[in-house]
Amino acid sequence: MDGTNGEARFPNCKKCGAGVLVPLSDYGQEGASVPYKAWACTNPDCGFSLRIDKGDVTYGRKIQQKQ
Ligand SMILES: [Zn+2]
Repeated sequence: MDGTNGEARFPNCKKCGAGVLVPLSDYGQEGASVPYKAWACTNPDCGFSLRIDKGDVTYGRKIQQKQ
């Protein structure tokens, strides 16, 4: 691998092309961690996200930030 930096291991966002998609983890009902359940773009102007629920993938639902 050449020309890598800290973010290069994550896939580029296909929507904005500027951010990268970073994995987010969640916790299941029994407290077990669920790694990589959701991915979100690092570009705040983009807000693209992708989440996986029981094998179903949902795209583009903007993750709300608590104000
Ligand atoms: Zn993006």
